Order: sequence, then C-alpha cells, then structure tokens
Amino acid sequence: MIPFNKPYLTGQEYELIEKAFSKGKFSGNGYFTDKCHRFFKDHFGLSNCFLTNSATSALEMASLLCNITKEDEVIIPSYTFVSTATPFALRGARIVFCDSEPTSPNIDVLQLEQLITPKTKAIVIVHYAGLACDMDAIMEIANRHEIFVIEDAAHSIASLYKDKFLGTYGHFAAFSFHETKNISSGQGGMLVINDQSMINRAEKIWIKGTNQLDMQRGIIDKYEWVDLGSNFYPSEITAALLFAQLQKIEFIQKKRKTIWNTYYEQLHHLEIKEKISLPIIKDYQSNNYHIFYILCTSISERNNLIDFLKQNNVLAVFHYSALHSSPYIQEKSTNKFELPNADRYSETLLRLPLFVELELNLVTKITSLISSFYESI
Ligand SMILES: *Cc1c(COP(=O)(O)O)cnc(C)c1O
Repeated sequence: MIPFNKPYLTGQEYELIEKAFSKGKFSGNGYFTDKCHRFFKDHFGLSNCFLTNSATSALEMASLLCNITKEDEVIIPSYTFVSTATPFALRGARIVFCDSEPTSPNIDVLQLEQLITPKTKAIVIVHYAGLACDMDAIMEIANRHEIFVIEDAAHSIASLYKDKFLGTYGHFAAFSFHETKNISSGQGGMLVINDQSMINRAEKIWIKGTNQLDMQRGIIDKYEWVDLGSNFYPSEITAALLFAQLQKIEFIQKKRKTIWNTYYEQLHHLEIKEKISLPIIKDYQSNNYHIFYILCTSISERNNLIDFLKQNNVLAVFHYSALHSSPYIQEKSTNKFELPNADRYSETLLRLPLFVELELNLVTKITSLISSFYESI
C-alpha cells in the first residue's frame, strides 16, 4: 500500500535529543528552543517566535492576546481545520464563516469585508496548501476596520506572499509541526507576533500566566501569577527534534518540489480535457509543496476515485468537511450559512500521497491509475 503520508526522519534527531538531555535542563525554553527561534528569524524573517505544543495552542495564545470575549465575532473560512475555530470559540466568540474563493480554497476577500460588523474583533485566514491569501488586500481591510489578522500558517512554512515569507504579514501567525506537515516534531507549533506591543504579555501567557522570564533575566527574584495563560511551550526534546528537521529543510523542500511537479506534469492532460482541475498558482504566491490536490467534478466521482485507488493500493484522502456544516455548529447556531465554494471543496477535493520518501516511479503509477480511471468513465 502506498500510504498518504510517511513522516520523514533526517537521522540527526537522536543525536540532538541526546544533546538536549546532556544540557541537564530539558523542560523547555532552553538551548534548542532558542536555536529554533533564531533559525526562523534568520531564514524566514520571523522575528518574535514562541514555540508551542501545537498550532492549536499557538492560536489559543493569539486568542488570549486579542482579548477575545463572548461579545466578539471572529471571521474564519469555513473550509479549514477545526483548530482555526476552537481557540476563539473557547473564549466564547461567535464564529462567522466566510466562503472560499471560486478558484482556490483560500478565503474570499470580497465576501470577507461584507461580513465585518462592529463586533468583529479578528479575522483568521488560512493559506491553504501553503499558497498565500491576498495579504495586501486583507491587511488593508483589517487596518481600515481596526481588526486583528491571524495567519493560520499551519501549512505555510517556507512559503511567500510576494517577496516576504508567510507569517510576517498578520498581527499573529501560527505554524504547525504536526507529523502531517512539511517539517515535523511529532506534535509542535509556533506563534509569531508581529505586533511589538503584544510581546511582553505573550511571554507571560506562554509560561502559565507568570513572569518567570523576568526572574530568569534577574529583573525580579521570585515569579508570580500576573495574567491569564497556560503551559504553552514544548519541552527541549521536542525542540531538539524540530531543530534536527530544520537542518534538512532545503533537502525536504527539494524532494517535495520534484514530487509535486511530477504530479502536475503527468496530470495536466486531464485538466486540458476538463476531467479535473489542478491547483492554480497566482503571481503573488510561491509554492511550498505542502499538498498536491486535484478537484473532481462531483462527490460521487471523487469517492469512486478514492475507492479505485485503494483497490490499487494507493491511499488518497479528501480534506476538510466545511465547518459551517459541522455537528457542533449545526447544533449551536441558528444562523444559516450558504457557502457554495466551501461545500464544493469539501465534496470534490482529493489529496494525493506526498512525502519525502515517495519515489517518482510510484508517483507515475498513481497518475497512470488516475488517467485510466478517467478513461473508463
Ligand atoms: C494542522 C492544522 C492545524 C493544527 O495544527 P496542530 O499543530 O495539529 O495543532 C491548524 N490549522 C490548519 C489549517 C492545519 O492544517
């Protein structure tokens, strides 16, 4: 069976984890956490980084920093992972769902502005498949209405909007290092803060709502509870694992690029015949090869293709079920959302296997299977 994903180990993980042990302090916020923070700054211009246990917890930090309450509305795309919503729902906010663009799962900027009310406090956008949302347009709208922008950059490591890396545009950005992402520490994430005035508070929220960092700096001699917070930071063992992966990021990205491009070239003929649609890369986007997806013409066709591939030992998977139709929202909300594009991506999007060790002859096997599927219908 060709799996959908296979986590990649660089080989250096064990060595660096041992080094973390040898430092004698591995609860977190130590040597490897610093190394990771510096790496993100040097390579991607991400200035104020806080490693977290997951992207979900990074978004929970952002939600606390925005002082989200039950009086607030937060706009998110419906076609996304549940973690884009829950950190804000946890603070009591009303989640307002926006549709995707006609041409990509990214948020529809034209609809976004219509959803803003005096209660809107934040917008969370998702760069689906690491392909950037139109950040100039989004920041212009948000600044005009004085609303926070949070980039859910879970897919978006090493990807650009125009000439700057994703994670540098919003007031906040959350990255994920879950095992399904390009760079992984099993579980892991990071909050990036671009609003300088928030950093002081973020340091407290990160470490259980205490001023422990000020004690480490020698500014105070005992630390106290000073704010809301939680235990958001990962152990040094997780940070060492992440740092080992970061050392190989160029290799990882190069491998993924070759696989992605091979899929594209070998499936392009089906797009010309209007059997499927392939991802569109806009002028302002770069590709970080996080996801290779195709769009089928209907849910039944997509599900038949999944079954056909499975019979031939290939695991391809669909992605999100639009959140506006989730059981939780259906039960809680009296609002009816009509989001045809989000529904369409829920029903027709199919992701193909993409991982570092996927050999190109297997990619060719997969594309041949897809071609033969479309010849037979
Ligand atoms: C993976 C993912 C998350 C959650 O990441 P965790 O690190 O598992 O918490 C959030 N948003 C999106 C869009 C994701 O794909």
